[in-house]
Amino acid sequence: MTKIYAIANQKGGVGKTTTCVNLAASLVATKKRVLLVDLDPQGNATMGSGVNKNDVEKSIYDVLTERESITDCLVLSESGKYQVLPANGDLTAAEVEMLALDNKERRLQNALHQVRDQFDYILIDCPPSLNMLTLNALTACDGVIIAMQCEYYALEGLSALVGTINQIQKLLNPNLKIEGLLRTMYDPRNSLTNDVSAQLQQHFGDRLYRTCIPRNVRLAEAPSFGMPVLAFDRQSKGAIAYLALAGEILRRNESSGKTAAAAETI
Ligand code: ADP
Ligand code: MG
Repeated sequence: MTKIYAIANQKGGVGKTTTCVNLAASLVATKKRVLLVDLDPQGNATMGSGVNKNDVEKSIYDVLTERESITDCLVLSESGKYQVLPANGDLTAAEVEMLALDNKERRLQNALHQVRDQFDYILIDCPPSLNMLTLNALTACDGVIIAMQCEYYALEGLSALVGTINQIQKLLNPNLKIEGLLRTMYDPRNSLTNDVSAQLQQHFGDRLYRTCIPRNVRLAEAPSFGMPVLAFDRQSKGAIAYLALAGEILRRNESSGKTAAAAETI
């Protein structure tokens, strides 16, 4: 069954886009069919997938404002391995236009419903704010992957995000859950990192991914190649870490599938 995950955190620069692009490539490496949805007007995930945001004629803006069908807006990533629903600066206008439209929180959900069956995983790269676009992502997805750096202020921001997720779960998307918390740019030599990590473990338990993404220069270089790191340096620590994350996500889904099947036979 298709899984739709929003990669979110209202803080910028925490590794959401890096996670989206590299997790997409890693899931493809395990033979999954993947769609990456860029929901940030900055279009970083679009560019990081080797699609020039300034050249795309049809983007997620056209989908959210119902000018175009989602199928007509999908493009192939540069590596040719996953589909991208691209974004660019036009998306800023969509946010304002959508305020006057019906079902404004459900626009992305309705669009993804049309293509859901064609993919195993749909990853949504959220903008760095809790705005109407993020609301659309949280309404459309099955689970949220929170990307975060282990620093003091990260915990403060986390409670606002968790509060928003709980609200959306009550009002718009009863199945919504926190799929997992991902520690990014992780440096175990830093004692604050370890303190924050221990707090996260205590609070979120199993939902904290065991895989941590290390700080790795190849991951930072990847966007300039317009490729996931896996496509140009598969031995790098960054590539290995994102492959491990994909493995962890797949295993979690397999074991929850088995639990559900076992429950049905009882
Ligand atoms: P966000 O989407 O949350 O704003 P990005 O994924 O764009 O964050 O990451 C912010 C910056 O940090 C980018 O320049 C990116 O290349 C860099 N970066 C992200 N993850 C890592 C990492 N694990 N190691 C090194 N640099 C990283
Ligand atoms: Mg980003």
